[in-house]
Parts: sequence; C-alpha cells; structure tokens
Amino acid sequence: MAIERTLVLVKPDGMQRHLAGLAIDRLENTHLELIGARIATVTDKLAREHYALLEGKGPFTDKKLFEHLINFIKGEYHGDPKRRVLALVYQGENAVQGIRAAVGVTNPEDASPDTIRGAFGRICRKHGYFENVVHASGNLEEAEREIKIWFRPEELLN
Ligand code: UDP
Ligand code: MG
Repeated sequence: MAIERTLVLVKPDGMQRHLAGLAIDRLENTHLELIGARIATVTDKLAREHYALLEGKGPFTDKKLFEHLINFIKGEYHGDPKRRVLALVYQGENAVQGIRAAVGVTNPEDASPDTIRGAFGRICRKHGYFENVVHASGNLEEAEREIKIWFRPEELLN
C-alpha cells in the first residue's frame, strides 16, 4: 500500500465546543503519523479555495447552501472573531481512507457512533445544515490539493 497524506480540519463548530482534543484522540487511534498542525484563520479566499470543487455540484447546485458552507467554515455561525480552525496532516499507509473511517460519513445522523462525526456531530435544526465537527479529504487527489492550500511544504515533517 502506498504512503499517503491527508488533511483534517477541526471546523468552527468543533472549535467552539472544545472538541479538538477529543477529535485528535480519535485520529491518533489510527496510529497514522501526525506531520503537520496549525491554527489558521479562515479568510473568504481560503474558504473558497478549500471548497472550490463543490461549487455547483450535488447539493451545492443550491447557491444558498454553498454560501452557507463558506460562511460556516469561516466561523460566522460560531462566534469566533478570529475565525479559527485547526488544520492537521496525517501520513501513512492508506491514510486517506483510514482517517475517513475514523471521521465517519458526512451526515452525523448516519455516521457510526464509533466515529468522530457519529459521536459528536449534530444537525443544526434551524438550517438543516450538518455540524459534523471535522473535515477530512475524501480521496487522494483531494488530499494533495487541500494540503497545498493549508500548508507550505516546509511546515510539514517528512
Ligand atoms: N454538507 C451539508 N449538507 C449536505 C452536504 C454537505 O451540510 O447535504 C456540508 C457538511 O459540512 C460537509 C460539507 O458540506 O462536511 C462538505 O460536503 P462533502 O460532500 O464534501 O462531505 P464530506 O467530504 O465533508 O463528508
Ligand atoms: Mg468532501
């Protein structure tokens, strides 16, 4: 199996509810190698770069939902003037799938209770939007693209 790298973000809902430590605990249980970590302020530019490939696709053909997604990752619904997320990079064999398995599926109500999203995620009753605590790259191509957006090469260990 190939050595892969993958990106995780503890999203603003996870940061607001102080779930970063619990999320990292679950991620560490994969025994993959943590090779990068930073607290980042999510600007509009960063948010749009991160979610660029989702614009106009699937549920995001609904423009309002896409703008909601951008505002969400920018921390606009979670009261953080510093617009913080925690960005992490894990490396190892089959890292993309291993991290996704620990994170769980997109909808927290469908996610296994053994996963981060299943244990800690919720659906915002007001908007029907998923507050699923963490982002994880969906496949290797996404991972390589996303890691470049959040980290400079020298910020990652080899
Ligand atoms: N999302 C949502 N409702 C949906 C689909 C997606 O709220 O019906 C949000 C959710 O926060 C998700 C993000 O949009 O994590 C990105 O969607 P994607 O399909 O990439 O899911 P993921 O890869 O995060 O599981
Ligand atoms: Mg995705």
